[in-house]
Amino acid sequence: MSHGADLTQADNATLTRRWQGVMMDNFGTPRLPLVKGQGVRLWDVEGNEYLDFVGGIAVNALGHAHPAVVRAVAEQIASLGHVSNLFMAEPTVRLAERLLQLAGREGRVYFSNSGAEANEAAFKIGRLTGRTHMVSAVGGFHGRTMGALALTGQGAKQRPFRPLPGRVDHVPYGDAEALRAAVTPDTALVVLEPLQGENGVVVPPAGYLRAAREITAATGTLLVLDEIQTGIGRTGHWFAAQAENVEADVVTLAKGLGGGLPIGATLAFGRAAGLLTPGAHGSTFGGNPVVCAAALAVLDTIERAGVLAHVTSVGERLRRGLTAPGHPLVREVRGAGLLWGVVLDGALAARVQQAAQDRGLLVNAVLPDVVRLAPPLIVSDREVDTFVTGFRSALSAVGDEVLTAA
Ligand SMILES: *Cc1c(COP(=O)(O)O)cnc(C)c1O
Repeated sequence: MSHGADLTQADNATLTRRWQGVMMDNFGTPRLPLVKGQGVRLWDVEGNEYLDFVGGIAVNALGHAHPAVVRAVAEQIASLGHVSNLFMAEPTVRLAERLLQLAGREGRVYFSNSGAEANEAAFKIGRLTGRTHMVSAVGGFHGRTMGALALTGQGAKQRPFRPLPGRVDHVPYGDAEALRAAVTPDTALVVLEPLQGENGVVVPPAGYLRAAREITAATGTLLVLDEIQTGIGRTGHWFAAQAENVEADVVTLAKGLGGGLPIGATLAFGRAAGLLTPGAHGSTFGGNPVVCAAALAVLDTIERAGVLAHVTSVGERLRRGLTAPGHPLVREVRGAGLLWGVVLDGALAARVQQAAQDRGLLVNAVLPDVVRLAPPLIVSDREVDTFVTGFRSALSAVGDEVLTAA
């Protein structure tokens, strides 16, 4: 591993201090400075190795430094890196064609650079229906820009920024009757995650998405499915909603799509596909050919290597490893594919996260009582087994601490 001659980076504490000296504090100080990744492995500045079950928050679908992504990016940047939206490049068009083909429907695509931007585009598409009212779910997460934040059903994130744009009502997630009561002929769109990621991996009751489809169809309301976290194989399907055969009017994508490069995509179908007209919206970097080439490499690799079936089987192996036998600290393991929330018996997630890190395992304490697991989709059976052994040991260590303190 080459660290170059930058001796100021020699230990974790030094880089952490540099970070604190110049970075805004909106995230709080990150846990660990990382220098290198390979597959499902990561290394910190001091050379410690970790098994990565965070995956850049469900972003690194093919893990770190996947050769297909590296090659696609290197070849594209060496030939044509950026053209702006005044011109076009083939990888952009090919990626749009490919995404629509995976959705199995005719439609149109708008590319941006992040999940929030993909949802901002959906928000504007909604407003172009001429209606102003919108509905989303309590606990739902749709991003941090002002429009996406208005849709996000988390009061603590919204509060300092009110008033927020639009007229948005939040209904309890998974409750079809609450949704039915909130949606009227003035409702422009309903936006839902097929499974709430940032809210601790919350799985709705079976049939919820289908009910949302029926309710929105009855009032001419657009159904927007935010598949930013669940899409691109994360749940074992290209799109999580395909498990329920639900066809939304708008689907937003980001996280896993770019294989680590920043991309957002807003897919629209039917009448929603025609609402953005020239001048209505835009992005300088959106559709950048390098990022689109990376995304094409991700999609090709998932398809060629049979990654969707792999996600289903290795994900089930992970779930079984965490639940059979059950651990006294674990109340529930919920999710799908390779997106799991380990619900703990109390506000112990930060301690479990630290105990796991001490054992060379990176996980995410997404809520005080929930640990989220979102490893690269290419994680192997063996890596899952290694993880399960170490994670159970971390749980037991925290359990022992709690018992000792009690
Ligand atoms: C991460 C996420 C977003 C926001 O994506 P950014 O790229 O951080 O803007 C929106 N919706 C869902 C469901 C997400 O998981």
